[in-house]
Amino acid sequence: MIQQLVRSNILQLKPYASARSEFTGQAEVFLDANESPFDTGYNRYPDPLQHTLKASVAQLKGVPASQIFLGNGSDEAIDLLMRIFCEPGQDHIIILPPTYGMYRVSAAIAGVDVREVPLQPGSFQPRVEAVLEAADEHAKLLFLCTPNNPTGNSFRPELLRELVQGFPGIVVVDEAYIDFSAQQSCTHWLSEFPNLVVMQTFSKAWGLAGIRLGMAFASEEIIGYLNKVKPPYNINQLTQEVALKALQQAEAQQQAVQQLLGQRTLLQQYLISLPFVERIYPSDANFLLVQVDGPRRIYDYLVARGIIVRDRSQVALCEGCLRITVGLPEENERLFRALVEYE
Ligand SMILES: *Cc1c(COP(=O)(O)O)cnc(C)c1O
Repeated sequence: MIQQLVRSNILQLKPYASARSEFTGQAEVFLDANESPFDTGYNRYPDPLQHTLKASVAQLKGVPASQIFLGNGSDEAIDLLMRIFCEPGQDHIIILPPTYGMYRVSAAIAGVDVREVPLQPGSFQPRVEAVLEAADEHAKLLFLCTPNNPTGNSFRPELLRELVQGFPGIVVVDEAYIDFSAQQSCTHWLSEFPNLVVMQTFSKAWGLAGIRLGMAFASEEIIGYLNKVKPPYNINQLTQEVALKALQQAEAQQQAVQQLLGQRTLLQQYLISLPFVERIYPSDANFLLVQVDGPRRIYDYLVARGIIVRDRSQVALCEGCLRITVGLPEENERLFRALVEYE
């Protein structure tokens, strides 16, 4: 069933066979990859399939290593899925705005059309019937972002399930902010739905945006296609090492998340006391979507004070809104002190 959704050029593709992936077994002398023999710590190509790192991710997430793909950020997984499943000029993707901007950009680069089914205004929940109505045989990918960026809310699990069950193509659930949410990850549906892809990242709760590492969890069949089309050494040695070390100290990540959740509540309390704050949307993420009177003026005022937030006021259904990331206690206090003096 998945195979019928894959572009024919990808089905026919004979992938690049790297020197290191052609050899299996034990060896001591490596004269196969034109590497330098001088030990710099990094003179050898990295493991193309990141076995050690995947074993550690598998243990933490409770997903078998054979159902894990690692990418150069989630953005790489998004781009590869686009190129595996969508025939340019023929197929399209479905997105539920307001949402993460990269789905649209990635589609535009691939020459793939985008159909929009906006979220319910205010509640920002998906309109399941409208999404499924928009899904014809050329709708290859449905992107669901939960908790959603920039609205911060999670989709109700029963709505998510209806979408995963009812959509005829591949459903990509982007869980970049799942560690800040009380909701369960959709990875527990993987054994039930071969068309489901769940994405997570090291860029947010793990505090490792700089190493560029994203995770995709899916059926072995989909993982096979991702591995087939990825650049051979897409995750460099430094990234693999840093991520492995972070996974071995997972309590530090839990503590950071707990601190940010506490700060999120505090920031909410600060902000709601300000006269020009009209509404703060409930957040399951490490940011708040805040509706204010005069967003652009407030944005410019903060910039002049050296504080940068995200102006989302021109985004449909986010009119009047700023998106504010939860920072350190002193950063949040500095924001609040600046806003108290705003007039
Ligand atoms: C930040 C974010 C990501 C992370 O992308 P990376 O390429 O892994 O840094 C993915 N999805 C959403 C919705 C995000 O907001």
